[in-house]
Amino acid sequence: MPSHEIAARVLDGKWVRDQIFSELKPRIANLGAKYRPPGLAVILVGHDPGSEIYVRLKVKTCDELGIYHELIRPTETVATGELLGIIEGLNQRDEIDGILVQTPLPPQVDKGEVLRAMDPGKDADGFHPLNVGALVENIPGPRACTPQGIMEMLRRYDIAIAGRRAVVVGRSDIVGKPMALLLLHANATVTICHSHTSNLAEETRRADILVAAIGRAGLLTREHIKPGATIIDVGMNRRPDGKVVGDVNPDDAKALASAYTPVPGGVGPLTIAMLMANTVEIAEHRLGFA
Ligand code: NDP
Repeated sequence: MPSHEIAARVLDGKWVRDQIFSELKPRIANLGAKYRPPGLAVILVGHDPGSEIYVRLKVKTCDELGIYHELIRPTETVATGELLGIIEGLNQRDEIDGILVQTPLPPQVDKGEVLRAMDPGKDADGFHPLNVGALVENIPGPRACTPQGIMEMLRRYDIAIAGRRAVVVGRSDIVGKPMALLLLHANATVTICHSHTSNLAEETRRADILVAAIGRAGLLTREHIKPGATIIDVGMNRRPDGKVVGDVNPDDAKALASAYTPVPGGVGPLTIAMLMANTVEIAEHRLGFA
């Protein structure tokens, strides 16, 4: 058995999340003692089952950490204008630091207009175009939670980025693109792949750090992996039997990688952790603590 098969490290998202939470708790307590707790408003339109689960978890996590939260639930038929009115109201309220609009939104809603209506200083998800611009320019601002969580994981596991070859498969606005930019700012040599990439395996096999954000169960297998790579599997694909699996074949990741994130329990916990971190950071900034 080659040595890398023995060395594969499991990157534990819950461990990273718990570290982040234990660092946030005193900051939240400090805000509460001196002024008020951070506040997060979550807008959930309709009854998408996945969104219901995510939002429930976000609310529960706010409760556990002592973050004030409000859940606003417009009906499935809400018009864009009505949502803009809700966001405008939240923009004006002092005790609301972070605002997040859970996606997907129903088709009649103009998602871009909704995002742009948000005060960029309250953008807990980092999706407002001004904050995307701040990411491109590498200036401070709230960052997209999943990629930022992955950077935290790499940092806390002491995985070197600078000078290494990173390949990101997926170019969505919420994962792939911001991930590539964060890795670039950390001085990786970055390649972005997508559904039109002509020879995916040829690209991914060059990756020291391989990030899979595709949404296709087990698409990446042995032939896509460079022995000794670090594999970050963002994919969350629900199989017909209800089991959630990643974009990378887990046996192949385990056999070939030097470190890999399991699904579930890898990247998943980091997204909510960074949402909480963004909310606390925004609150500190707004209240003059940072
Ligand atoms: P999107 O559907 O928005 O993007 C998927 C990307 O994968 C697209 O860029 C697409 O290319 C690319 N792609 C699709 N098929 C292939 C292929 N055969 N070869 C190469 N590239 C391909 O998904 P998201 O970015 O929103 O999410 C990706 C996955 O991550 C999903 O499973 C999602 O559930 C999960 N996720 C997990 C989170 C977590 O907290 N763990 C958070 C967010 C997402 P193209 O652009 O050309 O269409």
